[in-house]
Amino acid sequence: MLLLDVARTSERVASLSKRTEKIAALAECLRRLGPEEAAIGVAYLSGRLPQGRIGVGGAALRQTAQGTHAAEPSLTLAEVDGALTRIAGLGGPGSSAARQEALASLLGRATDLEASLLIRLLVGELRQGALGGVMEEAVSRASGIPADAIRRAAMVAGSLDPVAVQALTQGASGLASFKVGLFRPLSPMLAQPADDLDGALKAMGEAALEFKLDGARVQAHKAGDEVRVYSRRLHDVTGSVPDLVEAVRGLHARELILDGEALALRPDGTPHSFQVTMGRFGTKLDVERSRRELPLTPFFFDLLRVDGDDLHDAPARERFRALREAAPSFAVPQRITSDPSEADDFFEEALRRGHEGVMMKGMEGRYEAGRRGAGWLKLKPAHTLDLVVLAAEWGHGRRKGRLSNLHLGARDPRTGGFVMLGKTFKGMTDAMLDWQTKRFQSLALGTDGHVVHVRPEQVVEIAFNDVQESPHYPGGLALRFARVKRYRDDKRADEADTIDTVRAIARAEVRASRAKGGVR
Ligand code: AMP
Repeated sequence: MLLLDVARTSERVASLSKRTEKIAALAECLRRLGPEEAAIGVAYLSGRLPQGRIGVGGAALRQTAQGTHAAEPSLTLAEVDGALTRIAGLGGPGSSAARQEALASLLGRATDLEASLLIRLLVGELRQGALGGVMEEAVSRASGIPADAIRRAAMVAGSLDPVAVQALTQGASGLASFKVGLFRPLSPMLAQPADDLDGALKAMGEAALEFKLDGARVQAHKAGDEVRVYSRRLHDVTGSVPDLVEAVRGLHARELILDGEALALRPDGTPHSFQVTMGRFGTKLDVERSRRELPLTPFFFDLLRVDGDDLHDAPARERFRALREAAPSFAVPQRITSDPSEADDFFEEALRRGHEGVMMKGMEGRYEAGRRGAGWLKLKPAHTLDLVVLAAEWGHGRRKGRLSNLHLGARDPRTGGFVMLGKTFKGMTDAMLDWQTKRFQSLALGTDGHVVHVRPEQVVEIAFNDVQESPHYPGGLALRFARVKRYRDDKRADEADTIDTVRAIARAEVRASRAKGGVR
């Protein structure tokens, strides 16, 4: 297929206002994709490049985009995809100029309409209303598979893309690989943040409140005596956690898929820090010894399969009941209520017992694999932000010889840079100090007195109590009582929180303190 076909479809979809017309236009284009083109076409029509980013930033792109374009269309989807893969793979000295040049030559072969599609795909700004449900319906229409089956498969896969490709190339039989299955871990469901318990409860009506445990996400699969445990990122961690394996093996059901959190507890029953629990998941550990020293306790909060019954599509109410039947001693503490004062008490209890906060779950929702479903809300007392380390200072006294005080920045989407919001040397364990000393030396750009400036690449989760105005920092805002919670190696700097989020928190605080009659 020519890129022009996709560009025309995209233009047409954007111009149509009726959902049904958008679906029909997309389906018509999807139907014409050849088997090798399906993945590319589905990605482009959903507003994404299969390569993700190709390493040409906004300014360079604008400059490149100014060249002249072809009069006649000639580019095929496969050619464009091949060129972008090559560009994304260029590395080493001089590669940014080479990338820009290769991109200019590609855009030079595109017509105006095609170039405009490509540029919007490259900057991630293709908005044509082919989002979410519309694309699912279009894939259904093009493949002749009921939309519900497509939706369910996408839920299990955690994304529509692989499902769309299978549906378009293999038909209904292609969806079999997206069934929930034993020893085929599915992407875990995630939560959305909520900032106010009463408001969230009112919106949900009756809800299940659970402790929000700050441990390691685990998914346990059981078939007879065989038990495997998977991490949040679906790695098989069975070998590191024999205590969890034994706990699950001891449950009476023949088949189980359980979702939960594993925690290392102190003798008084309060949780160790996240870092300590995660210490159990290293690869080079003496498993028996670390198990003796730091036993893990499972807290399961969902049940996706029991003895041949798939439950991920069943309402939460039913899953909760089945979970409490199948694993009564390992089910997370839960309170089902619609009463705000009972919910407040439960929240206080969670904090008193050393947990992060509470999760609030709707009673009727399905398990939305891989998504931040609206059915799960998380409530924590302090704010947290994922920020980027801009510099680190050499420590004094006990911390001499280690990089300690971190300079923290929020992303500024307008400039592509970072805005400094404050510093912190709190919340770090000895192991973290050792790790960060090495890490920031490897990212060092230059030294200014005792400050080592670093490439802004390391994301760190910071807890803080509030945001205050500050003349000292460029954004006019600073975090109060900032402390390190953990390093987020699962996030890139371009996924860190933005200065806009920080401003929104500051505004919300002003509103809240006004509402309470406080003076700021
Ligand atoms: P966050 O990582 O802050 O977005 O919060 C979502 C994470 O909280 C999940 O991925 C779980 O690992 C964790 N979690 C802790 N307690 C619960 C619970 N009761 N229900 C669901 N998730 C929980």
